[in-house]
Amino acid sequence: MKMKKRLSKAEKKEHRRKTLQKYHQSPKYKKVKARYVAKAGPVAIRTYHREYYHKELKNSSTYKAKRKLYAQKPYVRLASCMYQRVYSKTPKCLNRMHTYYCSALYKKQNKLWRDLPANKLKTAIRGLDWRMSDYGRSYKRQWNSARRRSINVIEFVSKEKLLKLHNYRCVYCGKLLHNDKFTHIDHLIAVARYQKLGRLCPESYATVVPACVECNRHKSTKTPLEFIWARAAA
Ligand SMILES: [Zn+2]
Repeated sequence: MKMKKRLSKAEKKEHRRKTLQKYHQSPKYKKVKARYVAKAGPVAIRTYHREYYHKELKNSSTYKAKRKLYAQKPYVRLASCMYQRVYSKTPKCLNRMHTYYCSALYKKQNKLWRDLPANKLKTAIRGLDWRMSDYGRSYKRQWNSARRRSINVIEFVSKEKLLKLHNYRCVYCGKLLHNDKFTHIDHLIAVARYQKLGRLCPESYATVVPACVECNRHKSTKTPLEFIWARAAA
């Protein structure tokens, strides 16, 4: 694939201005705009713009090519998501990732992983992108931690949904909870217990409950029944 010429900032601005002007002068835009305004007032223009933009985007050749590629190689999409995540989470002041992504080295490696089979991709990404950044290093450490490794995520648990299921209350003391850092997601059977058995702790809405900070701290690695006994004895 031929690389597109990089436009300068001023050139980009000019291009954007020209495209917008062309778009605003088109009879189609004027007609539909009038219809939207008559219907719901000037606010409707924004909706129309968005819809128009998405329609244009979906008809573009770049979009179609990307869709085709993703359909054939879903892991390429995964990789580009990862790239964006790493990129967006690295502070711009460090600028190390930015320099790296602009470099010829990255372009070479980028091409390399695009052509890799799916089973080798994970290693490739880890080797190429993540190793380069402090963020990647810390993320990897987190990912490889014993606790992370011993959790088997069956379904991703959202705190809001979990709280809704349990009526926004701590299951142990009944305190009213909100979706903030003072609400902990407690594994009914602690992860450490599974670790001792040499098994993975399954994580789904059936195995976790919302708990307040104090309850979660006092419960620690006890089972719910042990916790109740301990509380009754105290
Ligand atoms: Zn509680």
